[in-house]
Amino acid sequence: MSGSMSTVIEEQPVRPTHVEVDLSCLAENLAAIRQRVGDAKVMTILKANAYGHGLVPVARHMVRCGADCLGVAFLEEGISLRREGITAPVLVLGGIAGEQIPLFLQHDLTLTAPSVEKLHLIDETAASMGMRARVHLKVDTGMERIGIHYYSAAALLEASLACRHVIVEGIYSHFANADAEDLAHAKLQLERFMEVLSFYEKRSLPMPLRHIANSAGILQMPESHLDLVRPGILLYGVYPSHECQQTVAVRPALTWKSRVAYFKVVQPGHPVSYGSTWQSDKAVRVVTIPVGYGDGYFRALSNRSEVIIRGVRSPVVGRVCMDQMMVNLDQGTAYNGDEVILLGESGGHIISAAEVAEWAGTIPYEVLTNINNRVPRLYRGE
Ligand SMILES: *Cc1c(COP(=O)(O)O)cnc(C)c1O
Repeated sequence: MSGSMSTVIEEQPVRPTHVEVDLSCLAENLAAIRQRVGDAKVMTILKANAYGHGLVPVARHMVRCGADCLGVAFLEEGISLRREGITAPVLVLGGIAGEQIPLFLQHDLTLTAPSVEKLHLIDETAASMGMRARVHLKVDTGMERIGIHYYSAAALLEASLACRHVIVEGIYSHFANADAEDLAHAKLQLERFMEVLSFYEKRSLPMPLRHIANSAGILQMPESHLDLVRPGILLYGVYPSHECQQTVAVRPALTWKSRVAYFKVVQPGHPVSYGSTWQSDKAVRVVTIPVGYGDGYFRALSNRSEVIIRGVRSPVVGRVCMDQMMVNLDQGTAYNGDEVILLGESGGHIISAAEVAEWAGTIPYEVLTNINNRVPRLYRGE
């Protein structure tokens, strides 16, 4: 990439409202995670547009930085990676519909087998195509999402031994609350998983790659790292929850920016925006920013959030509109074109995904994944 900046939009100026992703920061976060997990392999989780950071550019960068494999949520995300020439192993974490199986095989994507029935379907499909399917078996140890229950899992492991067109590369489970202060449930899940895995030892069979740790598991439960870890949010420099111990130092890779589009003085008694939910009792300077809930800036942030302009944190006033919102500078100064930080760091202030999440009544994951495709992504720091 040339210079310090490269744009994803061709032959078009970048929209004033855009996201900047610091690739060197992602590399450092990955290195910090590696340091923590020792010999365990790292599967970088790239679902939901790489947590809003941009699926393909982040995937490419992670592969260059030595990620062992990539994880996505569903088939189409995996196909997008293959279409862009990414050849690293890709595990699709979600459930599968039977008719999709040939596409998994054509694109050399690794499937999750969550039941005996699906495993047999994968085996039969692979046989009919004259191929062998790569699969990871999925065991439910206490999430009740997908996967065979730990107390019935021996049937799936047993069935997999008889499948001639399946290569069982891995076996995994997923934590429901490894980000909590009380790790009793997570510990129980890990115990159940280890018990399921004893199947292989008892029969002296080769052990597939064992994995269960998400970001929270990486941070709080070193005993859960096993053969491979699956960091998502931590890779992007954000901690899973307030309670979670920050045993790995990471920095947020994403900054969401815009620019001042309009400046005015609002007189007392003249309410701002839809529903007239806010007005001032004195004349104040108010600027309009070209970003709204149509970009993924939550409407729930109306009259709650702050942004950084000229090194000052100022409040969003009135309702957030679809494409625009207003910020009260009070007696402060700003000019049209001034940079606005919606999420990220500037002039000694930080607006973190955790803080925005708290204002909006959600979690940082949703703040990041909600930034939608109307917002161009720029990449720097390679
Ligand atoms: C999303 C996901 C992860 C990553 O979770 P983080 O909390 O973001 O680290 C790991 N494994 C599975 C199965 C997932 O669905």
